[in-house]
Amino acid sequence: MTRPLLTDAVTRLGTEGAFAVLARARELERRGRDVIHLEIGEPDFETPPHVAEAGIAAIRAGNTHYCQTAGLSELREAAAAYLSRTRGVSLGPESVVVANGAKPFLFFTVLATCGPGDEVIYPDPGFPIYESAIRFAGATPVPLPLHEGRGFSVDPSQLETLLNERTRLVILNSPENPTGGIIPAADLEQVAHAILRTPAWVLSDEVYARITYGRPAPSLASLPGLLERTILLDGFSKTYAMTGWRLGYAAVPEQLVDPLTRLIVNSTSCVPPFVQLAGVAALLGPQDAVDAMVAEFRARRDFLVPALNAIPGVSCVEPLGAFYAFPNIGSLPLSADEFADRLLGEAGVALLSGSAFGSHAPGHVRISYAASLESLERAVERIAGFVASL
Ligand code: PLP
Repeated sequence: MTRPLLTDAVTRLGTEGAFAVLARARELERRGRDVIHLEIGEPDFETPPHVAEAGIAAIRAGNTHYCQTAGLSELREAAAAYLSRTRGVSLGPESVVVANGAKPFLFFTVLATCGPGDEVIYPDPGFPIYESAIRFAGATPVPLPLHEGRGFSVDPSQLETLLNERTRLVILNSPENPTGGIIPAADLEQVAHAILRTPAWVLSDEVYARITYGRPAPSLASLPGLLERTILLDGFSKTYAMTGWRLGYAAVPEQLVDPLTRLIVNSTSCVPPFVQLAGVAALLGPQDAVDAMVAEFRARRDFLVPALNAIPGVSCVEPLGAFYAFPNIGSLPLSADEFADRLLGEAGVALLSGSAFGSHAPGHVRISYAASLESLERAVERIAGFVASL
């Protein structure tokens, strides 16, 4: 018998649907079609100029070599101060680990804490890399369904029923991708109580923490007893429109600092120091570009959600954070996959089927409103025309 060419682990890896749809949309454009891009989850703004300049100056000053794996002390200090201030916690630079984006932490946290026989609870619909990392590690994925009727928040009682002695890790994401949902403070307290009755770690993915339209999203790490077991994850991609710089960081419990640092030294060695110094400028410099970006996202949301709700057969819960809307198209005579597929092919609007985010929100699609108001207006017109043609 010949040996398989690939490992079981690698064949269990999932992917991000957004990249596949982007490739198809680009191919249509290459053939002359006009496509409105609402599929990709990245701010359509430039990195703030003072941040880009700091990166360029750092390159010119020779910060172009290997550096400390866990991160430059300037960035660990700035990130610790930022997280302490914005999340109402008290933590020092020794708790902070820096990596090439927030994404590696999803993988590395699961690899460091979970293996076969362990269960990991994660939100569904949710960022697809959670389930992929869990399966890769050989652990058992346990989806925690999010409910439209609760604004796509977690139901703490349901979480309680899923927690057991095999649960090693609970992943939470608030504000959430793909729904824009936020876990309210009262629910988060109940979640905290339930988790504290178990020995599970928590990965609190807060990469959209700065992009909220009402009250800030409360952080689980700020509740008593939780900081000690929470990987509090944030990054620069969304907040500072720095997706291509690949810079993220997490405040992690003491026992995890060394394992996560080892995973980084074994994979990427370190984040380029000039990228980290741009990150320091982002955290310590003026924040007006972030505020302006969030105000623009809010104006787009305030246009988009009522416009979607005005289309017969479409209903959309108002997202409270991030830059995604997750309309329900379940009453239309086609599946979400067919809807996304045909909308792109027939009307030139690229968005994602809810099936790219799990199996618990059939009949939904994700719209990223990281696109100009003018593009959104044209997209809504095309969606309304497409729906009317069904
Ligand atoms: N977590 C969530 C919920 C995301 O939506 C994303 C990116 O889309 C990430 C993490 C990864 O972000 P980064 O670019 O920092 O790796």
